[in-house]
Amino acid sequence: NSKINTNDTTAENTQTTLESESVPQTSPPPFAAGNTGAVVGNTPLLDLSRLSKAENVKILAKMEFLNPTGSIKDRIALHMISRAESEGKIKPGVTTIVASTSGNTGCSVAMVCALKGYDYIVITSKKCSEEKRGSMRAFGGQVIIADDGLAADHPEHYVNLESTLCEQNENYFGIDQYENQHNPEAYYTSLGPEIWQQTRGRVTHFVAGGSTGGTVTGTGAYLKHVSDNQVQVLMPDPVGSVIFEHWAKHVPENELQASGYKVEGVGKDSIPGTLDLSFVDAMISVTDKQSIQMCQTLSSTAGALVGGSSGLNVYAAVELSKELGRQNPSREFTIVTVLPDSGLKYLSKIYNQTWCEENGFMDDECDPQDEVNRS
Ligand code: PMP
Repeated sequence: NSKINTNDTTAENTQTTLESESVPQTSPPPFAAGNTGAVVGNTPLLDLSRLSKAENVKILAKMEFLNPTGSIKDRIALHMISRAESEGKIKPGVTTIVASTSGNTGCSVAMVCALKGYDYIVITSKKCSEEKRGSMRAFGGQVIIADDGLAADHPEHYVNLESTLCEQNENYFGIDQYENQHNPEAYYTSLGPEIWQQTRGRVTHFVAGGSTGGTVTGTGAYLKHVSDNQVQVLMPDPVGSVIFEHWAKHVPENELQASGYKVEGVGKDSIPGTLDLSFVDAMISVTDKQSIQMCQTLSSTAGALVGGSSGLNVYAAVELSKELGRQNPSREFTIVTVLPDSGLKYLSKIYNQTWCEENGFMDDECDPQDEVNRS
């Protein structure tokens, strides 16, 4: 809380100085970042405990939407590109960086390329919101939009287009976020330690949905390591993604079949190499309607304007808190989850009434995915 107050004071001081030259500048800003990369990470925790009635359970959420491009993915873009540089694989002015992405990694890669002087090409699918497409273009590179809903092994699938482009051009370097082990490593070395320090080692549960699985794998691995395996990891997955089917029902990888869902950035149509399910203790399947209605609760009651995966994560954290409250009312628990991206990226979807009505996400409408689940 005191951190927020300090920042507010700084903002007021800056304002005063701009308005009147005669006002002495008594307290300078706490720091001036040399570039936007310097302010990636170190996000505050938001206390969302009041969303649950379980009095022995705290729910805290990392405000990842405060990163420079509005998402958690700034962490991996910076880390993966810096590691590729230190390994001598890429060079500004020579290399074009290529990234396939559900959108956020593309925005983050674009920002880091702008900072470091690389050309970039990002490839996403038609599911990606217009807002994210616009951000990816805004940093000065090229954006390719592939078809949505193609089989994971289809040559035109957005992930496969990255490797095809890189095979055809020797100066292209693919980020390969679904296989690149520097992706989970970014969380092992940043998000995990931040959560441990900010909760003073009191975190008992970590909740995060996944697409590459970098967040849940890297953070889960770190928190288990420092807590002597005491921290439990819960991974929510959208209804329609294959990760839950694979984990809970042991469906072999080559028989997994995804179906469409609306929440962006989480869930997958195949099991990526960056997801290590051995760090996951439990999974829960969450519908679009549950995720999106939780986003609306978060914006209207907690002032947190966040994307659909934040709704998914917080929905799962609240369900977990209910279970912990029932099973173990005399123990104290601290659940930490993440708010991976900003709701500003979805003003035309989650926060647009017509879109919500068209998709059956309003309060009094039945959940289309419930129908599917029942049949
Ligand atoms: N939420 C959003 C909005 C995302 O864009 C992503 C990454 N695609 C995630 C969650 C999941 O993160 P990870 O890839 O680390 O599993």
